[in-house]
Amino acid sequence: MRILITGAAGFLGSHLCDRLLADGHEVIGMDNFITGNPDNIAHLASNKNFEFYNRDVSNYIFVPGKVDAILHFASPASPNPQSRSGYFNLPIQTMKAGALGTHNCLGVARREGSRFILASTSEIYGDPEVHPQTESYPGNVDPIGERAVYDEAKRFAESMTMAYHRFHGVNTGIVRIFNTYGPRMDLEDGRALPNLLKQALLGEPLTVYGNGSQTRSFCFVEDLVDGIVKLAYSDEHFPVNIGNPVEMSILEFAETINKVTGNKAGIKYMENSRSARDPQRRQPDITRADKILHWEPKVNLEEGILKTIPFFKEKLGIA
Ligand code: UDP
Repeated sequence: MRILITGAAGFLGSHLCDRLLADGHEVIGMDNFITGNPDNIAHLASNKNFEFYNRDVSNYIFVPGKVDAILHFASPASPNPQSRSGYFNLPIQTMKAGALGTHNCLGVARREGSRFILASTSEIYGDPEVHPQTESYPGNVDPIGERAVYDEAKRFAESMTMAYHRFHGVNTGIVRIFNTYGPRMDLEDGRALPNLLKQALLGEPLTVYGNGSQTRSFCFVEDLVDGIVKLAYSDEHFPVNIGNPVEMSILEFAETINKVTGNKAGIKYMENSRSARDPQRRQPDITRADKILHWEPKVNLEEGILKTIPFFKEKLGIA
């Protein structure tokens, strides 16, 4: 197949490029580098099955030749207010990538008869009142809340995707992605794993926001990419959660990082600057992914951290 990946220079997009090239496809990468990093795809420059377009997907996009599948992964995604690449500091671009970008990609999919996969998110569940979250849970969100530019853009994107499926018969799929980590994460984007792993490797105390009782479920990127690719190869149209269902508190998460890295500097509790809308619990129910795609994650947290450390050490310039 010839597959367009938007957000190709991002954390997930670049891993998808690698996986789909390894599966024998031709990949067309697209990114405008507002949050993507050219380093993530530099190794693909000489690959004859890879082409690249520097484009903003929220403007009209044109791709010459046939396109068999489109994976729309372009969007700022970090919730850290301090991060320059987070969606707090790119609110309009975030809404445009989710709304106009999705519409443009769906237009190409309609014209080309492509399979279209939307990168959606656990954030569409907001601060959930049910645990774990199944795909049928409609979410607890606030349209003008602090995270709204991301949540609502993705909710709009899901609606638009289903409208193109129902009204135009486009072959669409929606993946709801839960917290993911691994090599090529932006070390400065302020999310839990980059912050804490960086601190651990530098021998510093790990900054836990609030009392650390809020929970997340962290998936290693290789597992996540495998689930997304399985969804792309399927003909499922309704949303599928992809994430690791092992739920833990942020405090346990930090303690695991200290254990795996041998960091003796402990934990530093900090006021949670995002407390107003920091979801208290988050855990995917992956029953549908298992049933429809025969997918479940294989890499546990300790293994995943070990696989991530070399990339972090290289970026930090430590042996
Ligand atoms: N967090 C933390 N210390 C940090 C960074 C994040 O305690 O240095 C917490 C944050 O408050 C949240 C959780 O870790 O409860 C996950 O945050 P992340 O930014 O990774 O993504 P989110 O799941 O909130 O989208």
